[in-house]
Amino acid sequence: MSLVQIRRKDAPAEPRERFLPTTAADLKERGWSEIDILIITGDAYVDHPAFGPVLIARFLEGRGYKVGLIAQPNWTDVNDISRLGRPRLFVGISAGNLDSMLNKLTAQKKVRSEYQYSPGGKPNQRPNRATIVYSNLARRAFPGLPIVLGGIEASLRRIAHYDYWSDSVRRSVLLDAKADLLVFGMGERPAWEIARRLDAGEPVSALRDIRGTAHIKNNPVEWQPLADAKSRYVTDGGIVVLPSYEEVKADKRKFAEMSRAFQFETNAHNGRPLLQVHGDQAVYFNPPALPLSQAEMDALYDLPFVRKQHSSYSDPVPAFETVKHSIVTMRGCFGGCTFCSITEHEGRIIQSRSADSVIREVRALSRMDGFRGTISDVGGPTANMYQMRCKDEKTESACRRLSCVHPGVCENLVTDHDPLIDLLRRVRSEKGIKKVYVASGIRYDLAERSPEFIRELARHHTGGQLSVAPEHSNPDVLKKMKKPGIESYERFAQAFCNASEQAGKEQYLIPYFITGHPGSTLKDTIELAVYLKRNNLRPRQVQDFIPTPMAIATAMYYTGLDPLTGEPVYSATDLREKRMMKALIFWWDEGNWPLAREALKKAGRGDLIGRSPHCLVPPEYGLTSPGGGSFNKGPRRAVKGRQRFRA
Ligand code: SF4
Repeated sequence: MSLVQIRRKDAPAEPRERFLPTTAADLKERGWSEIDILIITGDAYVDHPAFGPVLIARFLEGRGYKVGLIAQPNWTDVNDISRLGRPRLFVGISAGNLDSMLNKLTAQKKVRSEYQYSPGGKPNQRPNRATIVYSNLARRAFPGLPIVLGGIEASLRRIAHYDYWSDSVRRSVLLDAKADLLVFGMGERPAWEIARRLDAGEPVSALRDIRGTAHIKNNPVEWQPLADAKSRYVTDGGIVVLPSYEEVKADKRKFAEMSRAFQFETNAHNGRPLLQVHGDQAVYFNPPALPLSQAEMDALYDLPFVRKQHSSYSDPVPAFETVKHSIVTMRGCFGGCTFCSITEHEGRIIQSRSADSVIREVRALSRMDGFRGTISDVGGPTANMYQMRCKDEKTESACRRLSCVHPGVCENLVTDHDPLIDLLRRVRSEKGIKKVYVASGIRYDLAERSPEFIRELARHHTGGQLSVAPEHSNPDVLKKMKKPGIESYERFAQAFCNASEQAGKEQYLIPYFITGHPGSTLKDTIELAVYLKRNNLRPRQVQDFIPTPMAIATAMYYTGLDPLTGEPVYSATDLREKRMMKALIFWWDEGNWPLAREALKKAGRGDLIGRSPHCLVPPEYGLTSPGGGSFNKGPRRAVKGRQRFRA
């Protein structure tokens, strides 16, 4: 029987004891005088595997440790984080599922209206740079206790990095947080080894060789780069010495070099140790943790998650509402899109669950109160990478390519969609399951290799609209993003349309685009807007590029160089120019016309302002199109934001 225990529909409200202890009363209830490990998180406490710090807490609990969890503590004094007492082994700190600055501010550096990870979307439930603030609090609350950082914020700020929100290069977060260890990437293996070795009596200062962890060294002189140009960053001991914090702060070329050197060490099977000097200290990074096997992934998702937000909350946590009826089938991504850091965090090797494990979770979900038979998503970072791997382990272990699908799909990649097709068939044939959607991203250059998958997707797993992310139409911009050409998207769109018609369903694609990505000029954005208009595409959601820590595109944005080639790259850094780019994509929306006109004039494309059919926006006075109809109400083939290709 699965270890997943879900309350039946007629059961009373979830008892507190099913959650991890969060108060002294919870400890008393269990008869515990102390906990072994305390996890502090910047998210609300939702006992669901989609919440990273909870996943680690449940994993450690499953290894026999007494784990307590404090979510979104008051950070103005130490009282709140002390409420479970001093833990016996260590305190683990995470800012939550998102970087705390990204969680708070938009690309325009404005405060977001809703906080997805707080009850009721309430703002100000976590501090800026939460990893540092919580770590400082923990040091004051529990002097001498090992402090271990983890989660996305710590992981992606582990080396010197560009911080968009302060427009500055910051040190490794480990130094600012003054913690003992930093766990990067997916934390199960390192967290368990830390717990095991501390429990066995080793001091934290002895934990210097755990994969997936970083620590501070106090005498970095011996690791200064060697003089020899070819191997200047690799010591005799095989340690890759990155340009120092001082170098990358002073010199953008050095920053680009650091970014490049780092990227080639992210494969867990061949990544070498890294070291980066910061003043009179250095941060040492062991190679990444090894990926989990299928059996280990299954065991992880069999842990006794309550699959609910903590019973002490009265308001819903928005992020939970979107995932509570969804199922994760895999982790990792081999796409290597330059604007995304999933590869840097979760790794390039896909780690998938078995179909049996997924079915156990489906059955548990179907017994949940409030479940009406619809699974909102079966997926992961990229839904159709489920069970995809390199053709053999030896090749995969030796490979240093940053993407298995760019500039083209690698001939060694096994792109078989049958395991996913079989899994989806099994899920939808389960008792009590009425609808199963695939809402996670689809890699269409892979999907177009499997007409059967597209047929299944269109017939059974699309709720009328399928979101896909071509991101741009210009080949040079797509190259900078490491995304496939727009022709691949169009082929997929056509195949999806045909499959929908065969299934007798009227369905639409919802394409997503990014504006302001490095390599994209105003001229390129106008080209994209013209493409959208020509294809009757009226996007409702466009992502204004945000340079998040550690992404390759962020290095392009900050340095003006492509770290992989050394070539200059244009980036829109002016916030008004970024707004203009976004306005162009909303060419159909009257509210954006003034900014779009300004953009067109600035780019010398006044010819696109007017009443002719090829124009993007009407002139300032007179909002009608040449055909006499209102400019934004003229005849069109597709409804707003959707694309339907002719069969
Ligand atoms: S050889 Fe190809 S498929 Fe294998 S890991 Fe490298 S890029 Fe990916």
